[in-house]
Amino acid sequence: MKSYLLSFILCLFFFWPQQLRAQGEVKNILYINSYNVGYPWTDEVTEGFKQVIDFNPNINYFAEFMDTKRFSRIVVFPSFYNYLDAKYDSSNFDLIVACDNDAVDFFLAHQDSVLFKNKPLIFCGITNIEEYPFKNIEAYGVVEGRNLQQIFHSMHRLFPQRRNVYAIFNETVSDSIYKSTVSKFMLDYESSDLKTVSSDNSDSIVRLLQSLGEEDIVYLFNRTFEKKGLFKPYRSILNHITPPYHVPVFSDMAINENTNNVLGGERNRGQGHGKLVAKMAIKRINGEEISPQFLYPKGELVYNYHQLRNFDVELSLLPRDAIIVNKPESIFYKFKRLILVNAFFIIACIAIILILIINNRNQKRYRNKLEAARDQALQSESVKTSFIANVSHEIRTPLNAIIGFSDIIKQENTNKEFDEYVNHIFESSQILERLVNDVLDLSLIDANEVKLNYDNIHLPDFMDELVKRNIVQIAHYQKPKLKLKHKLPKSGPENLYVDKFRLNQIIQNLINNAIKYSFTGTITLSYAFHSREEIKKLTELQTYDLKHQQYCLISVRDYGIGIPQELKSFVFERFRRLDQVYMGHHKGVGLGLNISKSLLNIMGGEIWFTSVQSKGSTFSFIIPHLPKP
Ligand code: ADP
Repeated sequence: MKSYLLSFILCLFFFWPQQLRAQGEVKNILYINSYNVGYPWTDEVTEGFKQVIDFNPNINYFAEFMDTKRFSRIVVFPSFYNYLDAKYDSSNFDLIVACDNDAVDFFLAHQDSVLFKNKPLIFCGITNIEEYPFKNIEAYGVVEGRNLQQIFHSMHRLFPQRRNVYAIFNETVSDSIYKSTVSKFMLDYESSDLKTVSSDNSDSIVRLLQSLGEEDIVYLFNRTFEKKGLFKPYRSILNHITPPYHVPVFSDMAINENTNNVLGGERNRGQGHGKLVAKMAIKRINGEEISPQFLYPKGELVYNYHQLRNFDVELSLLPRDAIIVNKPESIFYKFKRLILVNAFFIIACIAIILILIINNRNQKRYRNKLEAARDQALQSESVKTSFIANVSHEIRTPLNAIIGFSDIIKQENTNKEFDEYVNHIFESSQILERLVNDVLDLSLIDANEVKLNYDNIHLPDFMDELVKRNIVQIAHYQKPKLKLKHKLPKSGPENLYVDKFRLNQIIQNLINNAIKYSFTGTITLSYAFHSREEIKKLTELQTYDLKHQQYCLISVRDYGIGIPQELKSFVFERFRRLDQVYMGHHKGVGLGLNISKSLLNIMGGEIWFTSVQSKGSTFSFIIPHLPKP
């Protein structure tokens, strides 16, 4: 609902003023130009006028062209009025725009006619504004002024040695005005001799120009030098003279044509004049004040590069805001875009390369730092490891003495009072010995310095010995319901080529745990030999990469407390003791299984377990069955 309302308001906002405008009164302008379509100045003025007026939907304009460049005004005036009268019989124009003298003169000649009576006039292209008193007429306009003084001054400045200044006019009204203006201010240039030439004949001008020499300079006033009715472009005059010209030629009108023959001149752009006229017309139609009544737009000083070069003109002598046309494009200017795009691309590439170099350097520096830090860490690690190994080793010697002597005292002692103390010393020193051994192993494993001593062992004997030794151990733990046995295979190999010390350490650790974490049932120690394929079928080992052909599988099974499901993943972690309840009763630091796993990995084996809480656990490991060398 809200959005409908919003759209409605927006529609009102956008369309209402336009509607109002569209519905407002439409005003009509009659635009009369002295010359014909295709004549450059006329086209420029008309274009400028259109550009501004077309923006005003409430203003209509009707453009008409008198064509007085080709047909005499005496012929054109009456017929043109008849034509307008017939065409715009019932039209009531709000304003008349007249461009150039003939159109203005035409308006004035018919100011009391039905079409023009009491109509405001806006004009352009008039130079001799003083001659138009515009009595009883509301007139505004753009004066086609020429700053002749600035161009003559420039001629004198660029060519001071050319004393004879030829100013060539034709017989038009405007030219006669210019002639008197120039004659006045040229009096100030004492070194120059002004020679005014009036001619309606292009051939005579060609002859004159050809006869001029090193002390002469020329200003051509108009662009046509031919009798009325004949349109002879200025260009054709200079085309009759074989280049190179010996005389610099200046001209205002000709410079508009971008001709190569003229050295300089003042350029008045018709478009600008047309726009100014249109703006004045809109103001008048809207009832706004037009001030000033007559505008004098300034022309630009334009110079032809070829001619400047031809006459070795010092470019620094040109006015600061001079425009130089026909200047050959430098290679940079010609391919400016391409060069800029390429330059940008090259700069971007260089920037990227620099960033990469800097980055690489930084990386190198960081890598070196890291390597140094790593070396230092490794060094301190190995120092630490060897320190721990040394210390552990040194502790073991006195510890062994304590264990040995406390054992002797235990056996020899008859005094019951000391029994407890001696036992305590004996047990504590045993725990300490295990701890020292574990720490020593850990440091050897971390330093990758575990040395294996392979030997051939007879497994049934080895197992037998283990069981016997640990039955004594169980008695010591005072667990009368706990039993221990081994289960030997009926057939198959009996010998294993292995590091006996480490194998004993691993199995002893498993038996210790089984004793520690069980109270009843029989702990069973078993072994069997299997091929790699058979081992692979065991679900626990399916993902392992087994490199050897034959393995010996050894298991320790108990019916103890078991391991809760959620703690199973921590069993082999260092210093992890899972069962909080039994932790107090059984000494240990949580290193045994981690060390066993590391040792087995070094030996090419693997360890795993299955366990059910309160039901018991089976810890199994495989060890490669290597052929005896
Ligand atoms: P600890 O010195 O604590 O025995 P281990 O690395 O040998 O260290 O064992 C890690 C933990 O795994 C033990 O603290 C215990 O909680 C659990 N665990 C090991 N073996 C068994 C088992 N047979 N039955 C139940 N829990 C066990």
